[in-house]
Amino acid sequence: MEKISVIVPCYNEEKALPLFYEELSKNIKNFPSEVEFEILFVDDGSKDKTLKLIKDLQEKNHNIKYISFSRNFGKEAAIFAGLENASGDYVTLMDADLQDPPSLLLKMYETVTQENYDAVGTRRVDRTGEPVIRSFFARMFYKLINKMTSFEMVDGARDYVFMKRVVVDSIISLKEYNRYSKGLFSFVGFKVRWLEYKNIQRVAGETKWSFFKLTKYALEGITAFSTTPLIVSSIIGLLFCVVSFLLILLIIFKTLILGDPTSGWPSLVCIIFMVSGIQLFSLGIIGQYLSKTYLEVKQRPIYIVREKNF
Ligand code: UDP
Ligand code: MG
Repeated sequence: MEKISVIVPCYNEEKALPLFYEELSKNIKNFPSEVEFEILFVDDGSKDKTLKLIKDLQEKNHNIKYISFSRNFGKEAAIFAGLENASGDYVTLMDADLQDPPSLLLKMYETVTQENYDAVGTRRVDRTGEPVIRSFFARMFYKLINKMTSFEMVDGARDYVFMKRVVVDSIISLKEYNRYSKGLFSFVGFKVRWLEYKNIQRVAGETKWSFFKLTKYALEGITAFSTTPLIVSSIIGLLFCVVSFLLILLIIFKTLILGDPTSGWPSLVCIIFMVSGIQLFSLGIIGQYLSKTYLEVKQRPIYIVREKNF
C-alpha cells in the first residue's frame, strides 16, 4: 500500500470547502486501489463554520485528519503544520478554493512514480481575472528575486506541489520562522517537473490576500532568500562617498582659482534631500533584516494547536 497525504490549509472557507471536498473525492476515485489517501485539513483559526464542517466530514470519512490552530497564523504556518503531521509516502498541498485543480493529482502521482521525478510543481501560465496592477507587480517581483538568488524561483509557481517523502523531510528540516514556501521548495532542489495550467478563479468565498499583504509577502520572500539588497545599499553608499569626495576637490579647486561667488544653495538642498533619502532607505533595508533576525532568534513556535483528531 502507498499513501498520499493531501494537505489543505483552510481559513474561513465554509463556502468553498464542501465544493472542494466533493471535487477531491471524485478525483480520488480515479486512483488505483492500492493507493490510500489521507486528507489533512489545517484550520488556520477560522472564525466561521470551517472547523465544524471539517468535523462533520471527518465523522463520515475516517481518512480525514484535522489540526485546528489557536488563532490565525497564516498560510505558511498552516503549510508547515501540514507537512509536519502528514504521514504519507507522498504529500501534496492544495488550496481549499479549487484554484489548485484536483484533476491534476493523478498525473502528478504518475509523474513521480513512473518518470523518476522527486516532485511535481504547478505554475499558472496566465493571470486572467487578476487585477492588472497586481499581475504587473507579481511579474516584477519574480524578475527581481531571480536576479538576487542563486536558485530559480519559477514565475507563476503555486504552492500546489506533489512531493516524495524525501522532499517533504528536507523542507521540514528547514526550521526557519519566516517561511516562504515557494522559496523553500526551490531551495531544497531535487528533480522537479513543472505542470502548467490556466488560471482558475476561486469557486466561492473571498481571497485573503490584499495588495498590502502581498507586498509584505514579497518583501519577506526577498529578505528570506537573498542578502543582495544589503550589498546594493553598501555599494550605493560607497558610490556617494566617492562622488562627494570628488565634489569637495572640485569646490576647493574652484574657490582657489575662481574666487568664491556664493551660489548653489538650491542644488545643495537637493543633494541633502537625496543623500538623506538614500540613507533612510538603506537603514530601512538593514532594519528589515534585523527584524527578521529578531524574530528568528526568539525561536517562537510557528503555530499553536488548539485541537486535533490524531
Ligand atoms: N489560507 C490560510 N491562512 C491564511 C490565508 C489563507 O490557511 O491566513 C488558505 C486559504 O484558506 C486557501 C489558501 O490558503 O485555502 C489560499 O488562500 P487564498 O485563496 O485566499 O489566496 P489566493 O489564491 O487568492 O492567493
Ligand atoms: Mg485562492
